[in-house]
Amino acid sequence: MNRIRLSALTACALLAVAASASAQEKVLNLYSARHYASDQQLYDAFTKQTGVRIQRIEAGDEALLERLRNEGANSPADVVLLADAARLWKAQVEGLFQPVKSTTLEKRIPENLRGRDEGAGSEWFGFSMRARMIVYNKENVNPALVQNYEDLARPELKGKVCTRSGAHPYMLSLIGAVSEHDGKQKAEEWAAGVVANFARKPRGGDTDQIRAVASGECGVALTNSYYLARLMRSDKPEDRAAVTKIGAVWPNQAGYGTHVNVSGAGVAKHAPHRADAVRFLEYLASDEAQRHFVDANNEWAVVPSVKESNPALEALGEFKADPLPVASIGRAQVTATRIIDRVGWR
Ligand code: FE
Repeated sequence: MNRIRLSALTACALLAVAASASAQEKVLNLYSARHYASDQQLYDAFTKQTGVRIQRIEAGDEALLERLRNEGANSPADVVLLADAARLWKAQVEGLFQPVKSTTLEKRIPENLRGRDEGAGSEWFGFSMRARMIVYNKENVNPALVQNYEDLARPELKGKVCTRSGAHPYMLSLIGAVSEHDGKQKAEEWAAGVVANFARKPRGGDTDQIRAVASGECGVALTNSYYLARLMRSDKPEDRAAVTKIGAVWPNQAGYGTHVNVSGAGVAKHAPHRADAVRFLEYLASDEAQRHFVDANNEWAVVPSVKESNPALEALGEFKADPLPVASIGRAQVTATRIIDRVGWR
């Protein structure tokens, strides 16, 4: 009798252990460099669909990569989500991702928005797209002077140009793209010209550049499209006032097109929950998630069949995007880093 009761208790205890183990299996560890509060809705919707809870670790792109390197084979990371092609490329060549082999992803994500290193077997996919735009103060700057990235080095703009640090991934990717198109030598001369035109030392993020242009402290600056669209859709009177002071340009429309970049993700090399990690990537490529990137963060969908837009993106209008594959933008960051060091764009 006693023995039976005991074994029943043991069975209960074992069940409890099994239940907690299976509860643990329903977790996905996401290392994310995306820093947009609205993404929480995206993760909640995935959890609702799959029962897999997302445990998120957020940090800057480089800090996440450093953490992955240090953790090595013991890393709990399942998915690594980064906000820039240069960093995605770095993670790819360092073998921090693993191959995914998903027909869903292969069908839905265009080939020029993916990266793959055959040797390291390391693979990632772009899930949302953004463009790097020029914004100018309508009172202080003639828009005819700022139609191209290259124009930011024009002597007429002396004391008028603001950017965030050249070392930021968004800037490294742009400078890398300019060097791919114009050549290293010309790109370095251009970068030196931009630095010579600074209104102030680089500081702050893209939104800070837009605000400084609106206030007149800067005449012209660079920003990712979604930061501008966010201000355009804001209810705050100060944001609306700022937007009326500035003009926006799709750069290089007569030439190679406006520089575009992606936010993307891969399955971490040592992912403990590989199947759910792939499931999460497939979810990011779903119509629902793609629409989220458009509605909630003012980015563009990468899945061609998703034709979503929002009022701010529509107001900004159509543009010609630079067709340079994101993988070459990533590769060019080595040159870009050398350039910013040489010209002091920090
Ligand atoms: Fe951003």
